[in-house]
Amino acid sequence: MVNYLDHKDLVNEVISRERIQEIHDATLRCFDRVHRAESAAGRLENSVRVLVATKTRDIGEIMATIQAGTRLIGENRPQEVQIKAARLRQLCEENHLPVESHLIGQLQKNKINKVIPFVDAIESVDSVEQAQQIAQRWAAVNDTPCRLFLEVNESHEKSKSGCDPARAFDEACAIAEIPSVQLIGLMTIGTHVEEEQPIRRSFASLRELRDKLLQTGGEEVASCTELSMGMTHDFPLAIAEGATEIRVGSAIFGERLFV
Ligand SMILES: *Cc1c(COP(=O)(O)O)cnc(C)c1O
Repeated sequence: MVNYLDHKDLVNEVISRERIQEIHDATLRCFDRVHRAESAAGRLENSVRVLVATKTRDIGEIMATIQAGTRLIGENRPQEVQIKAARLRQLCEENHLPVESHLIGQLQKNKINKVIPFVDAIESVDSVEQAQQIAQRWAAVNDTPCRLFLEVNESHEKSKSGCDPARAFDEACAIAEIPSVQLIGLMTIGTHVEEEQPIRRSFASLRELRDKLLQTGGEEVASCTELSMGMTHDFPLAIAEGATEIRVGSAIFGERLFV
């Protein structure tokens, strides 16, 4: 695999006018597709948040989608958070653009302290143990609770990240009980296939898990309302199945040149 960090200057802030326009147009087109999917599913306009996945993109590209209206971004790799987040935050503040940032990729224990100052929520938590490690470090520097999503491997593919669906209900209940943690939702990367049915089923399954958690009536799980599901190739299906947040990268920036 090509290590794109050696090939691309992620702190670059200056991109061509054509590239700015391209990202601007793609962002508006994506918002429009989301509105159409909301409407087709009989859902309220703006009931779905759009998280823009910024892996491999530089600061100039990310600011272009933010200038076009993006208000939620997500990084996969803690290393990219470290490279870009402080400067991005500064630019957003200077321009009075309130942008929220989530971590959507795997987080090793030794990287937790490095990402905590820069993220508003972590979507890629896959176990109680990990949630405890994050919460402990979070509570040391924050008064507010740490907002987490449990990532569930609804694709059932071994290679994929996330907690085993068979364990997910118990894991979610246990995570919600951790002091200084607020479990705000569930996240999944859907089954990567062409047919619609298996993809929809994996999204429906995440929704059913969320509903089952809420139906317990438990005080601690009452905040677990978000469903982060759907990417560039399948977000209309996710919206039809109840996504409250979709995560798109290539729809905004084009195909990734680096994995
Ligand atoms: C890259 C990524 C996305 C967006 O993928 P696209 O196919 O480019 O839309 C969404 N979620 C996660 C966890 C990702 O890593």
